[in-house]
Amino acid sequence: MSKFTDSIDANLGEEYSSISPGSIPDNCIACEDCDPENEEPVFSSRPCETCGSNLAGDRHNAHAIGYHGEIVHFDICTDCVMYFANAEEPENWEG
Ligand SMILES: [Zn+2]
Ligand SMILES: [Zn+2]
Repeated sequence: MSKFTDSIDANLGEEYSSISPGSIPDNCIACEDCDPENEEPVFSSRPCETCGSNLAGDRHNAHAIGYHGEIVHFDICTDCVMYFANAEEPENWEG
C-alpha cells in the first residue's frame, strides 16, 4: 500500500473495486456524463474523483459498475489511468 492507493481506497470505499479507464462500449451512450462526440481528456483543476489529487491536469473518463448494475462515471487523473489500466503507481505522489 501507498499514500496513493490509500487515498483511492478512502475515496471509493468498497463500493467500486473495478474501475475501467476509458469510455464504455457503444461510445458511452449509456453514460450521461460522457460526450460521445468528444472522448479527449479534459484539462481541469477539479480534483481527481478517485485519488483526490488537486493537481490540475488532464481528466480522463472512467467507469465502474455500481451495486445495482448502474454505470458510474468518474473523471480521473492520468496517474489513476495508469493505475487502473496497468497497476502502475505514480512515484512520489503527494495528492
Ligand atoms: Zn461516462
Ligand atoms: Zn487520480
